[in-house]
Amino acid sequence: MTSSHPDRTDSAAPRSGQGIFDPDQLSQCVQCGFCLSSCPTYEVTHLEEHGPRGRILGMRLVAEGEFTIDHPDVLDSLETCVQCRACEEVCPSLVEFGALMEDARAAMRDHAPPQGTQGRAQQVGYATLPRRGLLKTGILGLSALQATRADRLLPDHLRVARRVRARDVLRPLRDDRHAPGTPAFVFRGCVMDGLFRDVHQATVDVLAAAGYAPSLSPAPPCCGALHIHAGREHEAHRLAQEVIDAYEGTEGPIVVDSGGCGAAMKEYGEWLGTAQAEAFSARVQDLTEVIEPSMLAGARPVRARMAYQSPCHQKNVQRLGDTPRALLSAIPGLEVVEPDDWHLCCGSGGAYSLLQPELGDALLDKKTDALTRTGCTDVISGNPGCALQIARGGFRVWHPAHLLARALRS
Ligand code: SF4
Ligand code: SF4
Repeated sequence: MTSSHPDRTDSAAPRSGQGIFDPDQLSQCVQCGFCLSSCPTYEVTHLEEHGPRGRILGMRLVAEGEFTIDHPDVLDSLETCVQCRACEEVCPSLVEFGALMEDARAAMRDHAPPQGTQGRAQQVGYATLPRRGLLKTGILGLSALQATRADRLLPDHLRVARRVRARDVLRPLRDDRHAPGTPAFVFRGCVMDGLFRDVHQATVDVLAAAGYAPSLSPAPPCCGALHIHAGREHEAHRLAQEVIDAYEGTEGPIVVDSGGCGAAMKEYGEWLGTAQAEAFSARVQDLTEVIEPSMLAGARPVRARMAYQSPCHQKNVQRLGDTPRALLSAIPGLEVVEPDDWHLCCGSGGAYSLLQPELGDALLDKKTDALTRTGCTDVISGNPGCALQIARGGFRVWHPAHLLARALRS
């Protein structure tokens, strides 16, 4: 998705003038404003510069040399975008806002990289994600903090609402790769593998119940989604190529139980522009695409009423439409309700809730209110960032795999 236009030279993106943005994409925006009500940050601040139209105008002014990319007003406008791509989904002119924003983030990282403590923290964080051993050590540290309740000393937005237990982090994952059936690969990733191993286990169980032979191997460490959002294009592309190479020579679907990872992996073809990457992306499927609702006829009932939070990157990037909700609604006994602001982001946005805590919290407050109006205490979400964010709002969060596994358990 990034750097799709030929003028762009990644490492030397200029601060102003042409070369950062695709001029065709910029001119495609007719400033109609249809996208404003779908933009979560605009809905909070009602400032033009915090909506897609204002952000594109800012990009145009940079492209025309009126402003440099590191001008404080330009930075504020672009940094506050949560990259949910809801604007792209509703734009009648088909502006590829995600690509524009990824180009902006890469140029911002070149010319206005984060400084000081935050800069160093980001450097360590992004370097740690693809190192499974280091990440596991960090998560064990988090479990110790939570076990001793020392995490209460952390600032609110750094506290992880999900309870992490050391024995869950250390428990080996079991798969069914030698079972008869079509091979299917469960992508483990970084955050999912560290904090949501229960989801991976449930995904394996669901695939096995559906007649697949699910494998957790190969296990490349990180899809690069968080890196691309942060403008770390070269690292993201390197990680994407490592993922693709790991699956070379295998056949069968690559099943992803994280909306953000799946969205990135489905765009590897556009990121890298190679036939190998395109073929890989064509194999990537969200878990809810692999399982047919008809499989749930006669399944065990899950008697509950739960709200469904549609993750932006499933909805606006993978464009799964009603697929996840229709599948969940097919579980006997399960009533799935949608909050009235279903189209708005919860404020997670990868690392957004950490980097923009004020806006991230404001978006979470809106989402919490909408979820509360459903009358549900339990929420279903298929993305780890959303799950962590919504848990901060006081809800019990389930992954679709948990509920499908319960229904399909023999
Ligand atoms: S991005 Fe699309 S919807 Fe938004 S103002 Fe531009 S043309 Fe209109
Ligand atoms: S990506 Fe999301 S936050 Fe950013 S401008 Fe579009 S709708 Fe607004």
